[in-house]
Amino acid sequence: MNGLMMQQPLLISSQLEFAARFHQSVEIVTRTVEGPIVRTTWSGLAKRVRQLANALSASGIKRGDVVATLAWNTQRHLELYFAVSGLGAVLHTINPRLPPDQLTYIANDAGDVMLCFDTTFLPLAKHLASVQTPIKHFVALTDDAHLPKDFQGLRSYESLLVGQPETFTWPSFDENTASSLCYTSGTVGLPKGVLYSHRSTVLHSYAICMVDALAISGQDVTLPVVPMFHVNAWGVPYAAAMVGSKLVLPGPALDGVSLLDLITTEHVTSALGVPTVWLGLLAAAKTKQVKMSMLQKVTIGGSACPPSMITAFQEEHGARVLHAWGMTELSPLGTANVLLPKHASLSKEERLQVQLKQGRPIFGIDLRLVDDDGKVVPHDGKTSGHLEAKGGWVASAYFKSDDHSHHDGEWFATGDIATIDGDGYMQITDRSKDVIKSGGEWISSIDVEHAAMMHPAIAQAAAVGVPHPRWVERPLLVVVKHKDKEVSKEDLRAFLETKLVKWWLPDAIEFVDALPIGPTGKVLKRQLREKFKDYALP
Ligand code: AMP
Repeated sequence: MNGLMMQQPLLISSQLEFAARFHQSVEIVTRTVEGPIVRTTWSGLAKRVRQLANALSASGIKRGDVVATLAWNTQRHLELYFAVSGLGAVLHTINPRLPPDQLTYIANDAGDVMLCFDTTFLPLAKHLASVQTPIKHFVALTDDAHLPKDFQGLRSYESLLVGQPETFTWPSFDENTASSLCYTSGTVGLPKGVLYSHRSTVLHSYAICMVDALAISGQDVTLPVVPMFHVNAWGVPYAAAMVGSKLVLPGPALDGVSLLDLITTEHVTSALGVPTVWLGLLAAAKTKQVKMSMLQKVTIGGSACPPSMITAFQEEHGARVLHAWGMTELSPLGTANVLLPKHASLSKEERLQVQLKQGRPIFGIDLRLVDDDGKVVPHDGKTSGHLEAKGGWVASAYFKSDDHSHHDGEWFATGDIATIDGDGYMQITDRSKDVIKSGGEWISSIDVEHAAMMHPAIAQAAAVGVPHPRWVERPLLVVVKHKDKEVSKEDLRAFLETKLVKWWLPDAIEFVDALPIGPTGKVLKRQLREKFKDYALP
């Protein structure tokens, strides 16, 4: 017997219309590419989204068409999120940090017919206009006054909206229809497309709003620093519409001082981003001697969160750190680290050890660990294995790809190596390509890096395996010192001896000015391995 409940497709347009009706006066604040801070409300945004939907339809954009963006976190980008997907077209958010040849590749692979870009990315747009792609329309996300002059056929976004009605009847369609497309960063081989659906997006939005997940809430002023060009800014734009969170969008200014300014002037209570941006923010707060007392929650993901960062946010600023794990193929959220009542009795150091884990799966995601032969290994917090995931917002295949090596038909192989403890807390020990294989045993590069970053003089650390005649590989630690701090290799090594078992100690330490950072804010270990491949270990 079926239940007698209404059947309504889960559509992104319904999130927007809900926000317009029930959170109408809640603000959306943007630091624009042009410079000034602009404000609207969810109701004001919805009117412009409907105008945009009319404009896109008038330009011939129809269901199934792919509209690309090269854009920062701004109001206009947010409008595109809802208008393009709402129409039943597909929003392809391109990562502007990808090299030009990969941009050409993904514009063709995606079949982009329109490109909407921030003027910051004019050279990239010109590149795409100069090569063979299906792009027919180029739109600059600005007004006519700021429109670049030397680009034939270019239109300003604002001119598209002029005269368009503020009403639009959103089409209803199957919730499994594709809504947006995001390519993996392509650190190995060509980028691969992950094609989200309306259903997966709405389910993921519900999930991240859970208090034991990212707790996206109408109580908060939310600052997604995580880019809208990378996994839909972790789904925050959609979830914020559902719960009516005030949104603060940082535009192109992602440096510490600009973020600090936004956080304090807009009273941001919840901020989300990768560790590298928080390094800049914490440094700016220290230099300016500002305590970010308004900040209640900082969500950190994308790379392992160093212990010193958790301590700085929690002890110097009074914010709670929420460590989370996910990936493009998981929309992205898989786990979130929220402490349990039993952790209240732990010492500060013991609690920090729990917080360093990537957290527990949120309902809707199932995780397991398998060995090299695909056999499930125990979740005992000690045994590490290849992490696999399944769930309603996990990719079932890559866009237009014959590569099914990540799927066994049921589980998606994440490429991460992890442990899972009896409470379900998952801890990433490495990306499988980054583990250091020493004499048949694995050394977790993340653990070595964490130990180094516990030293007060160390800002960033990366441990990579370099070839070794006897042990196959041994760890080399590459570190960046804080600008105003000093430490010698000998002292750092002595410090590490107090933190790591002997055979995990790096065989050598190298100081560098900066680590190579990839298009999604992660350290490019592959580049480091390449750079140090002939390194003569002592
Ligand atoms: P991406 O698809 O570019 O978002 O990258 C996903 C990958 O980033 C994951 O498979 C992990 O290797 C890594 N990652 C994401 N979050 C974390 C985290 N909290 N700690 C460690 N690694 C992470």
